[in-house]
Amino acid sequence: MNTTPSWEEDRHRLNQEIEALRERGICYSCHDLATGSIFGQQALIHEDDQFKVVLDQYPRMLGHTIVIYKPHREDISELSDEEVKSLFQRCLQVIKVLKIALHAEKVYLNTMCDGSINHVHIQLFPRYAGDPIGSKRFVLPRGSLENGEELARQIRYALLPILERQEP
Ligand SMILES: [Zn+2]
Repeated sequence: MNTTPSWEEDRHRLNQEIEALRERGICYSCHDLATGSIFGQQALIHEDDQFKVVLDQYPRMLGHTIVIYKPHREDISELSDEEVKSLFQRCLQVIKVLKIALHAEKVYLNTMCDGSINHVHIQLFPRYAGDPIGSKRFVLPRGSLENGEELARQIRYALLPILERQEP
């Protein structure tokens, strides 16, 4: 009997597609930003010409969020000072919103982008009251995203006033 949850099979297929692109020298993230063909319909929190902010499709906890910086950079070491500023500012806005909208006590920030052909992105891991504190949160087991659209909408509504304040 096959006991593998279907989301794990989906994730396995996704990783295979990403690997196949890498073998052809193609960045999966740039490819997805251009075509939408890798991740499909994601639970979108925010998108503008610089950033795409989505809920992870296979979250480690409620509100596991990915901030993608759109221009191709392999990892954070390739960012200019200006790019670092704007990426970190956007991350802070989302972190504050995860605390407001989801009542996270803390939000952890992680970026790796290791291995062949990668694309800079930041992972945000909320921690809630009662959750154990510490680095084990970075490797909690993944699951499938439930009610992603509704959750993304909730976060998006909390983010809008912050983004509006930022506009000149
Ligand atoms: Zn890329």
